[in-house]
Amino acid sequence: MSVKRDRSERRWRGVAVSDGAVSGRLLRVHSGGRTSIYRVKLEDGEVAREVRRYGAAVRLARRQLLALKKRAARTLGEEHAYIFDAHLLMLEDRKLNDDVEAVIRSESVNSEWAVKVVTDRILAVYEEIKDDYLRERSSDVEDVTRRLLVALSGESMLGRRLTEDAVVVAEELMPSTLAELDFTHIKAFATDVGGWTSHTAIIARGLGIPAVVGLRDFYRAARTGDPVVIDAGRGEVTLHPAHETLERFARERRVAKEAPAARAATAAELRAPLKTRDGVEVTLRANVELPVEYDWVNRYGAHGIGLFRSEFLLSHRGSVPNEDEQREAYEALSRIAGEDGLTVRLFDMGGDKLTGSRLDAGEERNPALGLRAIRFCLQRPDLLRTQVRAVLRAAARGPIDLVIPMVSDVTDVRRAREVIEDERARLGGEGKKAGPVRVGAMIEVPSAVLVAEKLAREVDFFSLGTNDLVQYTLAVDRGNDEVAGWFRSLHPAVLICIRRALEAAAAAGIRSVVCGEMAASPAYAAVLLGLGARELSMAPTAIPRVRRTVAGLELGEAERVAKECLECATADEVEELVRVGLGGRWPNLFPKEILPPPKTKG
Ligand code: PEP
Ligand code: MG
Repeated sequence: MSVKRDRSERRWRGVAVSDGAVSGRLLRVHSGGRTSIYRVKLEDGEVAREVRRYGAAVRLARRQLLALKKRAARTLGEEHAYIFDAHLLMLEDRKLNDDVEAVIRSESVNSEWAVKVVTDRILAVYEEIKDDYLRERSSDVEDVTRRLLVALSGESMLGRRLTEDAVVVAEELMPSTLAELDFTHIKAFATDVGGWTSHTAIIARGLGIPAVVGLRDFYRAARTGDPVVIDAGRGEVTLHPAHETLERFARERRVAKEAPAARAATAAELRAPLKTRDGVEVTLRANVELPVEYDWVNRYGAHGIGLFRSEFLLSHRGSVPNEDEQREAYEALSRIAGEDGLTVRLFDMGGDKLTGSRLDAGEERNPALGLRAIRFCLQRPDLLRTQVRAVLRAAARGPIDLVIPMVSDVTDVRRAREVIEDERARLGGEGKKAGPVRVGAMIEVPSAVLVAEKLAREVDFFSLGTNDLVQYTLAVDRGNDEVAGWFRSLHPAVLICIRRALEAAAAAGIRSVVCGEMAASPAYAAVLLGLGARELSMAPTAIPRVRRTVAGLELGEAERVAKECLECATADEVEELVRVGLGGRWPNLFPKEILPPPKTKG
């Protein structure tokens, strides 16, 4: 018996992480990793229908894979598309499908359960395999299982239904899932989990897509095809909007459209050297994750790529491109970055970055403090060495820096450097050319700040990751909406850390770049400059806005405000100072809506 769904208007409030408002239809996206599997005992008459249902799911999963393969060939190149072949082969495997069907028939159970029984058996065999490479192929089995289970649940495994513009709703979107989406068809994001610096938030801001995260229980209430209004500016999501809501939305849209558009800057203006009003030079670089952003580096006038989050090279199934594939990817990015240079970050995996994938650290009680980033890389020398070799080889063609994520100790740097030099020597022995790379440390953990003077002697530059620096300094999970109110980038403790790291770099004569989300916000960027930063790296789309701010700012004044901020006791006091000191002094540069705090849950 079908239960009639409540279609009256309902509203959710979450964390607003980007601007804009849209109305549209929902696409419910299952990110995987947490598929529930139930065992249902079937009645006699139901078995044949269940077998047909399984067959339909296999066909659906197959169509999805073929479409994904085509897309991968288009966006990543033919050589990457082959990864889907293994999955297709498995899906088409007669033995697997016969075994599932046999379990459905012999046990009179649902397809989900039968898939689990059969794939558990296969995985047990993989566990016994001694060869690391072969054993890891079990991730293919897991991924195909996940795809089948989602196909059985009737939900799209991304992309398939994403042929029309849709509002994507998910519990949480992992980088590996985001990498799979076709952004040309996404109108907005709405997720149950997440905060200001969660991956969905960073991507949404980077691509200019309206997004509200931290909606808690929206996913459960939402169905694919449901009408919705997303007002990202207000952090509001309205399901089944009533007529009046749609009218109000349309009215607001009309007014917004009639507002005079800012004059578009020319490419030459965007590339011109940037100085504050009192003549201090500032460099703006690009943070890059997804291929769609590659073109934007030059379009928005970035001076090179200040941060390439290389973990986005991994496909949703967590497989790692081989050395040549990576080298080609880095070379392509290096060509885009040109003489201004490319900074590749070693895979920042673990933590919340690749949950649910075969490559993550497995179940950890406290993943943010666990086997993440450089710790993970050191634990997996095969991955680290392959990446280092690819970067060194690409660096023979253009200027590339390498940055180590989540450094908490000088030893992390020494161990990474050892691997780099070791691989350089090996490449030499193999007659392969390796270019020079400068090696930097991400400063995103308080212990790195406390030993910054020592670290500065061991690296060529610092890269301040404020997203994690805030998370770890204030002990606030960056992806947890429950504590979004505690995530205060302008907390005096954070500012003291930033100041200290910048000073240590300057004293040692090395450069530093700030690449966390703070750099992309005009008010925060002004504070960062006041604290001593001269290089900022951000989503390419944020560059014109921050450029305008820098050009209109007097650094002396920003320094005065920053100095006062360092004396404050609370984030509230700092934010007030910024509102008065910057917003009061330059109302045109810092209109109300871009002053802190970032809109959090009301
Ligand atoms: C940061 O932590 O600020 C950063 C730039 O890295 P990510 O957001 O990828 O952790
Ligand atoms: Mg980080």
